[in-house]
Amino acid sequence: MLTRLMMLGPPGAGKGTQAQLLSNKLGIPQISTGDMLRAAKAAGTELGKKAAEYMSRGDLVPDEVVVGIVKDRLAEDDTADGFILDGFPRTLVQAEALADAQVSLDAVIDVVVPEELLIERITGRMSCASCKQVYHKTFNPPETEGVCDKCGHTEFNVRADDTREVVVSRLGSYRAKTEPLRTYYADQGLLKEVDGVGEVDEVQARVLALLSEGKG
Ligand code: ADP
Ligand code: ADP
Ligand code: ZN
Repeated sequence: MLTRLMMLGPPGAGKGTQAQLLSNKLGIPQISTGDMLRAAKAAGTELGKKAAEYMSRGDLVPDEVVVGIVKDRLAEDDTADGFILDGFPRTLVQAEALADAQVSLDAVIDVVVPEELLIERITGRMSCASCKQVYHKTFNPPETEGVCDKCGHTEFNVRADDTREVVVSRLGSYRAKTEPLRTYYADQGLLKEVDGVGEVDEVQARVLALLSEGKG
């Protein structure tokens, strides 16, 4: 099984949802730069404050900030048997920093979803205020309305950057800066495209099938 993984794909493609399932299934950590940056913001650190300005506009946070937090995270012991990078790298500079740090990847999973559906997914996203489990108001609601499946909490949050206006800007950042990584990783023989349209479980089955095929 391939275990040094990266989730690539536009905002709303389902990277986080798939990474979380894979993390549980394979017992390797999900490393989400978006989650780490939001945690820094919530904690009120200088880094968090700086990052929040970019995030609220739908711009990418500067490379050196993100590279630093990912390097620190990858140095922790729980990444020894593998990891799932979710939302990093997002620029060629970040991808090259990862390679320079001698972090090799086994596979890059590119989740492909048409743009109209991305917007619907993002504008309906919500998460449990306690355990952060991600839901969708209509596509993927909790089993009992208003109650988190995982922890029973009854409050949910909507991300400040999940508005239609900011989403347009985030999609622009993706097309300009992140999409070139498809070619970068395809040239290295690492890119595996997954059709992200369909039920969460169907998409997960596609991802697992790709990973069990092995390298190359
Ligand atoms: P999405 O779920 O839309 O893919 P994320 O939670 O991954 O969003 O990221 C939210 C925001 O955090 C991004 O719009 C960007 O501002 C910032 N961010 C996350 N990861 C990175 C990264 N690798 N490089 C630069 N900015 C990032
Ligand atoms: P990303 O991390 O790529 O931004 P998320 O995993 O947060 O994407 O998913 C975006 C939204 O779409 C969430 O509300 C999530 O519940 C929902 N979602 C994820 N996968 C699917 C799917 N296969 N079908 C329908 N909705 C989905
Ligand atoms: Zn919860």
